[in-house]
Amino acid sequence: MTQVPYRNGGAKDAPVHALAAYVTVDGKTVAKIEPVHTQGWNKKQLDIYVRSCLSSLHSKYGTTSFAEKEVLDISVHSCPICNQ
Ligand SMILES: [Zn+2]
Repeated sequence: MTQVPYRNGGAKDAPVHALAAYVTVDGKTVAKIEPVHTQGWNKKQLDIYVRSCLSSLHSKYGTTSFAEKEVLDISVHSCPICNQ
């Protein structure tokens, strides 16, 4: 499962603006979690959300954790919600 945080400025320590995730199996995307705005959430709220995503995908795909090297930081200008 790849976690995709959208951060202002794309910096590692910037506040998370929105969060999306997807699961790939053998290079194919098999599941997507639609992006949600997380601005104003504290770390605990983010953790809870991430855990709930994981547990729903775990039952289907056996996903137990995020591949950390696959975390992508994307500038807020690429936020799919703001660009709708
Ligand atoms: Zn946005």
